[in-house]
Amino acid sequence: MKRCADAVFNQILGVGPTDRFAKHPQILEDLKQEARERGLWNLFLAKGHYAEGAGYSNLEYGLMAEQLGKSQIVSEVMNCAAPDTGNMEVLAKYGTQSQKQQWLAPLLDGKIRSAFLMTEPNIASSDATNIQLQIVREGNEYVLNGSKWWSSGAGDPRCELDIVMGKTDPSNPSPHKQQSVLLVPARTPGITVHRMLSVFGYDDAPHGHGHISFDNVRVPLSSIVLGEGRGFEIIQGRLARIHEPKIKPFGKLLHEHGLVLRQAAQARIGIDSARLVEDAKSALKEIAEAKVLVPDMLQRVIDDVIQIYGAEGISQDTPLAYMWACARTMRMVDGPDEVHLLQLGRTESKRIGFVQDRLERQKQLQGECFRKYGVENVDPLYMGWTSQTKPKL
Ligand SMILES: Cc1cc2nc3c(=O)[nH]c(=O)nc-3n(C[C@H](O)[C@H](O)[C@H](O)COP(=O)(O)OP(=O)(O)OC[C@H]3O[C@@H](n4cnc5c(N)ncnc54)[C@H](O)[C@@H]3O)c2cc1C
Repeated sequence: MKRCADAVFNQILGVGPTDRFAKHPQILEDLKQEARERGLWNLFLAKGHYAEGAGYSNLEYGLMAEQLGKSQIVSEVMNCAAPDTGNMEVLAKYGTQSQKQQWLAPLLDGKIRSAFLMTEPNIASSDATNIQLQIVREGNEYVLNGSKWWSSGAGDPRCELDIVMGKTDPSNPSPHKQQSVLLVPARTPGITVHRMLSVFGYDDAPHGHGHISFDNVRVPLSSIVLGEGRGFEIIQGRLARIHEPKIKPFGKLLHEHGLVLRQAAQARIGIDSARLVEDAKSALKEIAEAKVLVPDMLQRVIDDVIQIYGAEGISQDTPLAYMWACARTMRMVDGPDEVHLLQLGRTESKRIGFVQDRLERQKQLQGECFRKYGVENVDPLYMGWTSQTKPKL
């Protein structure tokens, strides 16, 4: 059964219909039960750091994770699936006893799932200092207003917890003290999951990636993790991203970044050279060259543009993912690259006789020339250097 579990899981989810996000295939629960009985549970919480974990080192877990990656569902089956793993680490590391009891215990038990909400639409979210979601303290509550997207796990019917990052102190002179992290029950009034984003056209059901809004969402003050202004510190720990405080990548427009300029220059060279090859497509050789070079260039340029757009570039909100798929397809539809390369290689190899004749003729001409001017000891391969003056190569 284990070998075909992925297939069964996908068959139950089905294709196309939106209720893919409402389903929770029973095979998951059956395998979870078996994994627990065999001690294959919560393997990710590292030894020496978390009392709640199975006690493996990072290296040991890394080797296991390599195996887990071979199946679509086994990480969840062993309660080692993202984003719950990172979220459990946040709770284990920074949570109060009561936060742990409310959220960590059911997560460790595999009873609920969770989401981590940092990224925002139209905000360069790889720089956490840009995050805009507003968190305002009112009496003994926090009130949240704003939008999030790419909230992985938000589509799962068992997602009960949103770990939300926002700004409690937007005017703090230190940009790294403005953010806080709150534990927000996913069904709190005012939270709307508007839609699920696609990844190159795939919905990643049932966990998915949600586009969510917060409209006067109220949670008690006890929902804060670690304290006001500690959000940056928490997400640094969770995402292990490089957030060097001195560098402000988005203090400049993207086109002012050297790396992006370089990509733009390379794209221009690629496009223009592809155009030159396309222009010359009267001969068989140039046609084969164009058929390899143009789709390859197109795919690379679109890939770079996707990267520059960030996650939006792979979603349904731009045509880029579709364009990338078309460009990739182009490397097949008009005959695969390999066939054109083979043809080009053969055409090139047919030139061997011609090139040898040219070299021979050149040698003769050179010999004649040297004789005319009375130069001795000529080695024609070195274009006229004598054996005494031949450079050491
Ligand atoms: C499948 C998927 C799942 C995700 N799950 C989650 C989730 O669960 N929770 C969540 O909060 N977010 C999630 N994200 C969002 C992800 O973390 C962001 O997309 C990522 O941090 C980049 O942010 P951005 O998309 O806003 O791009 P931006 O920050 O706008 O960056 C766009 C591009 O700018 C360039 N760039 C960025 N920094 C630099 C620099 N220092 N120098 C030069 N160029 C630079 C890069 O080319 C980059 O790709 C997910 C994304 C995907 C695709």
